[in-house]
Amino acid sequence: MSDATPRATTAQALQSALKWFVGGVVIAALWTFAGDHGDAAFTVFGERVVQFSFIALTLGAQRISLLHGIVAGVVLAFVAVAMFEGDMASFALIGKLFLKALKMIVVPLIAFAVISAMTSLGDVRNIGRIGSRTVLYYFFTTAVAVTLGSVLVNLMEPGVGLEIGNTIPDKVANKTELGLSDILFGFLHDNIFGAFADAKMLPIILFCIVFGAVLTTLGDRGKPVIAVCDGANDAMMKIVELVLLLAPIGVYGLVAGRFGEALATGNFWRELEAVRDYSITVLVGLGLHAFVVIPILLKVTTGRSPAAYVRGMATALMTAFSTASSAATIPLTMEAAIDNNGVDERSAKFVIPLGATVNMDGTALYEAVAVIFIAQAAGVELTLTQQLIVIITATLAAIGAAGIPQAGLVTMVIVLQAVNLPLAGVELILAVDWLLDRFRTVVNVWGDSVGAAVVEPYARALPDEQTAT
Ligand code: ASP
Repeated sequence: MSDATPRATTAQALQSALKWFVGGVVIAALWTFAGDHGDAAFTVFGERVVQFSFIALTLGAQRISLLHGIVAGVVLAFVAVAMFEGDMASFALIGKLFLKALKMIVVPLIAFAVISAMTSLGDVRNIGRIGSRTVLYYFFTTAVAVTLGSVLVNLMEPGVGLEIGNTIPDKVANKTELGLSDILFGFLHDNIFGAFADAKMLPIILFCIVFGAVLTTLGDRGKPVIAVCDGANDAMMKIVELVLLLAPIGVYGLVAGRFGEALATGNFWRELEAVRDYSITVLVGLGLHAFVVIPILLKVTTGRSPAAYVRGMATALMTAFSTASSAATIPLTMEAAIDNNGVDERSAKFVIPLGATVNMDGTALYEAVAVIFIAQAAGVELTLTQQLIVIITATLAAIGAAGIPQAGLVTMVIVLQAVNLPLAGVELILAVDWLLDRFRTVVNVWGDSVGAAVVEPYARALPDEQTAT
C-alpha cells in the first residue's frame, strides 16, 4: 500500500471522521441556507448532513489504508444512492475533480514509466523477448474472452423476440466511416507532440518504447538521458501517491454522482429490465472470464494465489469500476501491482500502460455479445463464417478502443458493419451501456494486472546489472 497513506487504528480513524464530519456540517449548512428551500430547508439540511457524513466516514477509513478508504467510498456511495436517489447526482463534481487529477498525470506517468522500463531491460533483444510474450498474452486472453462471449450469447439468445427501431443513436451516427484501417492508424500520430497533447496513448507508448530502446544502444551518451527519465519516473510515482489521497472521496463522488444521475431520470429500472437478458449474458461472460479463465492462467503460469493477487489489485479494480476508464486507472494499477503484489517494476511498467490501451478482454467479450445480440433482435441468422468475422473484428475493435468510458460502444460500429447489421441496433443497448462499461473496464484492468505477473518471469530472468542505469 502507498506509503503516503497514513495508517491509523479504528479509534483514530473515527476521530478523524468526526473532524471531517464537523467540516461537512458547515458545508451542508452553507450549501443549504445559501439557497432558497423555504419550509423544507431543515429537511434539506438534514439530508446533506447525512450525505456529508458518508464522505467523513470515507475519509476516516482512508486513515487506516487506501483500500479501506476506497471500499468505504464505493459502499457508502451506494448506500447514499439507495437513500437519496437522484439527489446524489450533484456529488458528481467531487468525482470529476478526482478524474481530472488522474487524467492530468497519466500521460507523463506512462511516458516516463515506459521509457524507464525499456532502458532497464538493458538490451533490445530482451525487450523483444518480453514484448513478444506480452503480445502473446494479450492475444490469447482476448481471443478466449471473445470466444466465450460468442458461445454464451448463442446459448442464451437474449436478443430473440426483441425489435430494433429506426433511430441511429448520435453516439455512433457520425462514426459510419470508422473502419479496420482506423485501428491501424490509431497506432501512429502525425505529430508526437500532438499525441502527447491529445493523450493519444497508443502513439505515445509506441514512441516511448522506441525511444527507450534506442537509448539503450547509445552507450555513455544515452546515460544522462536515461538518468533523467528514471528520476522523472520516480517523481511521477510519488505524484501518483499524492493523487491517491483523493481516491476514496473521488470514487464516492463518481459512483454516487453517476448512479444518482441514472436514478434522477426515473427510467433506470425500466431501461435495465428491457435488456435484462442481454445484461445478464454480458455479466455472466465477464464473470467467467474474470473468475475462472484469468485466475487459472495466473495460477498455472506463475503459481501465485489468485485470491491474494486480486486483493492486492482491489484499489485499482474499484477505481476502474468508478471511472469506467482503464487509462485513468493506470496510476492505481501500476501502484497496486508493484507495491501490493510485488510485481517486478520492469514488467508492470511495460505491460500495464500498453495493456490499458490494447488489451481489453472485457470490451472484446462485450462487443461480441452485443453484436450477436443485435443480430438476434434484427432476426438475422449469422452463418458460421459471419460469427468468425464477428470474433476477429471484435478482437480488433477492442484493441482499437481507447481506455476511456464507452469507447467500446463506438468501435463496435466496425463489427456491426463487417457483418452488415443495422447501426440502429445500438439504440437497444445504449441505456445500459454506461453501467456495463464499468464491469468490462474492471475485467480489462484485471487482465492487464495479471498480464504483468505472467510476463514477470521474463523480466526477472534478466541479469541484475541490466536494471542498473
Ligand atoms: N471503458 C473501457 C475501458 O476504459 C473501454 C470500453 O469498453 O468502452 O477499458
